[in-house]
Amino acid sequence: MLQNIKLKTHQNYVAFFLTLSCNLKCNYCINIHNGGDRVSQAHRNNLSVEEWISAANRLILRGDLPLTLQGGEPTLYKGFYKFINDVKPDVKMDLLTNLMFDIDKFIKEVPIWRFNRVAPYAPIRVSYHPGQNDINDLIQNTLKLQDAGFKVGLFGILQPEGSLREHILQVKERCLNIGIDFRTKEFLGEYDGTLHGTFKYEGSVDGPELKTCECRTTELIVDPAGYVYKCHADLYKGRNPYAHILDESLNEDAIDEFRSCSSYGDCNPCDVKIKTNRFQEYGHTSVEIRNVRKQ
Ligand code: SF4
Ligand code: SF4
Repeated sequence: MLQNIKLKTHQNYVAFFLTLSCNLKCNYCINIHNGGDRVSQAHRNNLSVEEWISAANRLILRGDLPLTLQGGEPTLYKGFYKFINDVKPDVKMDLLTNLMFDIDKFIKEVPIWRFNRVAPYAPIRVSYHPGQNDINDLIQNTLKLQDAGFKVGLFGILQPEGSLREHILQVKERCLNIGIDFRTKEFLGEYDGTLHGTFKYEGSVDGPELKTCECRTTELIVDPAGYVYKCHADLYKGRNPYAHILDESLNEDAIDEFRSCSSYGDCNPCDVKIKTNRFQEYGHTSVEIRNVRKQ
């Protein structure tokens, strides 16, 4: 019998990575590049839709904490629509997508209440990847979803400089003018030899050497095979899962434990970046790191 997992007040994010497959090929994608290990993960037994439903049904989530579906492109998961419809009604969901799916089918099969809650940002969040998904398609599909009653927001990454930055700013203006919520995200990582982003722990991103530390997370993140990780870097690399989402005794206390890590220096920017939490308060990081030392 699966125990419930009742997320605590400080546990801020719950995400099921339904699949790491994608129908786009962005050259900066961390799933495919940068040490990501999509190929070996593809050989693992991915969860069936019934297993994902059991996993979601054990979650007790606060009203302000949705279950986020992400990937890859989560709508490519073959049981996507069954999952959306069959999980217990009190689990509200968010969707991170590139919007490259059959919009009419989505509107027909997805109940609006599943992706509808009061939040400072849209529950359906679309990433615009210039050169990969076409902005005219995104605008058309977003308007269609909005007309059907869904709340959708578009996001683009703002490069530190250059024509791509200008393009994103123009697209933002165009979207805002026609009633589409378009927000920009800070560029994180190395650009032209400079590391961009405000990270809480020095040397944790692209660090000069790997170090050992203890790390604990505020998130419950689950890969396509059901493994649970303490951070995104571990998840994308299939490195050291600490549990499986279908472990009977897994509960919210397990998320809180400090765990030893020997990959400090190879952290994913989004885990150690100082950011805004769900209350829109600045200063939060997804993980807490202590006792950093040489290996
Ligand atoms: S849309 Fe996202 S998951 Fe797909 S290739 Fe681009 S960055 Fe990767
Ligand atoms: S120290 Fe970095 S790589 Fe290690 S678990 Fe924490 S966030 Fe992940």
